[in-house]
Amino acid sequence: MTDETHTASNADSGHPPGLMDKLVSLAKRRGFIFQSSEIYGGVGSVYDYGPLGIELKNRIQQLWWREMVYRYPNIVGLDAGILMNPEVWVASGHVGAFTDPLVECRSCHRRFRADDLPQLEAGEPEAQQCAVCGTTGKWTDPRQFNLMFKTFMGVVEDDAATVYLRPETAQGIFVNFRNVQESVRQKVPFGIAQVGKAFRNEITPGNFIFRTREFEQMEMQFFVAPGTEDEWFEMWKERRMRWVETLGIRPERLRFHRHGPDELAHYCKDASDIQYRFPFGWQEFEGIHNRTDYDLGRHQEHSGKKLEYFDQPANRKYVPYVIETSAGLSRTLLVVLADAYDEEEVGGQQRVVLRLKPALAPFQAAVFPLVKKDGMPEISEKLADELRGPFNVLHDITGSIGKRYRRQDETGTPFCLTIDGQTLEDETCTVRDRDSLEQTRVPLSGVAAWLGAAIGGAGPDS
Ligand code: ATP
Repeated sequence: MTDETHTASNADSGHPPGLMDKLVSLAKRRGFIFQSSEIYGGVGSVYDYGPLGIELKNRIQQLWWREMVYRYPNIVGLDAGILMNPEVWVASGHVGAFTDPLVECRSCHRRFRADDLPQLEAGEPEAQQCAVCGTTGKWTDPRQFNLMFKTFMGVVEDDAATVYLRPETAQGIFVNFRNVQESVRQKVPFGIAQVGKAFRNEITPGNFIFRTREFEQMEMQFFVAPGTEDEWFEMWKERRMRWVETLGIRPERLRFHRHGPDELAHYCKDASDIQYRFPFGWQEFEGIHNRTDYDLGRHQEHSGKKLEYFDQPANRKYVPYVIETSAGLSRTLLVVLADAYDEEEVGGQQRVVLRLKPALAPFQAAVFPLVKKDGMPEISEKLADELRGPFNVLHDITGSIGKRYRRQDETGTPFCLTIDGQTLEDETCTVRDRDSLEQTRVPLSGVAAWLGAAIGGAGPDS
């Protein structure tokens, strides 16, 4: 991990050239990520996760849940509805202020976020060039644009029936603060964690799944006593960075970015992003925010329901402060993919390999017969069946063994188990390691235990 004074340019970020295009193509070819409604020409910036993508997404989510819920006795889970009473979004400030200033190029009519255009921000629109058509200085005045998707509840499409698709999961946690605290008798400090969909009508989505209109968040709101928030903020920053590093992300491509006064949301006392060095620059994929007592305070005011906490030992009542850890699940998945993608030459041939941490890989192992004869396919099928359940394994009999290895390298499968001539003699199989390419032999009867240990102690389901 570096701090943000790290100044190396993107060119030496170490990613293979053209990485984003390569990722998009691999993701489709190997069943990770597809464009939504592709057969109809797609829909703007929504993606579908294919058989391998959902595995990778589930693994990241499970590891996050284990870290954030199971590890701490004072953090519990929640799954709130996507649709909420519209007053929630008035109280949170999203109805009034969840807006981006939007400008349009008068020449090609493409729209941009004004804060993405440096000359415009500096008050010199005449010097700002359009990145799409190249025209300089032909901009409309900025217009505010609300990022929330609206829909209608019930049969009448009028203002009274307007509801919103939630733009963040956090509010579902705040409005349930009392329900959770009282029902499971948590004492401050304690946290509520949630993973779920969020929707934002982004003006400039892009960079594949980096910024999409439908995405998933993994958020945890930690309620603390006023006066202790700075300490907890530092603690959560450190814990979150440590966890990100356990995903196997290269530390030199990670850093904190602390918000300056001009970036800080008005309700935030402090905020730090965890950024990754993407091929398109350093960008946030998780934020740690000191949100003060703004959220519970606003909901208390708007709902008229008391959201104070009575601290018995201290004999005082207060509205808790909140430290939030807010990560994008889909964006973290992009970090994992970008960091794992590698190309190298092996035996004079180019190989693409996803160096995913074994515990994250969609398949923990692939099982092959060396050839389709001498009873090898039957033995490999039986081995695959024995491993299925605790592990996600693939049985593949098509193509040359070399081709089968390459396919698994591209999908990040850490181990390939091959049934070969020697298996028929001594009931062992060849285990080929994705990264080192080393081959060892393991007895068929010991493969499950061996695999469990090799992927980090246990199967993905344990
Ligand atoms: P950005 O400035 O990139 O739009 P943000 O500061 O609005 O992000 P938050 O509201 O703090 O983001 O959301 C927390 C996390 O949710 C982000 O760090 C990111 O990982 C994820 N996220 C936010 N918007 C999107 C999006 N449109 N697509 C995918 N992930 C998103």
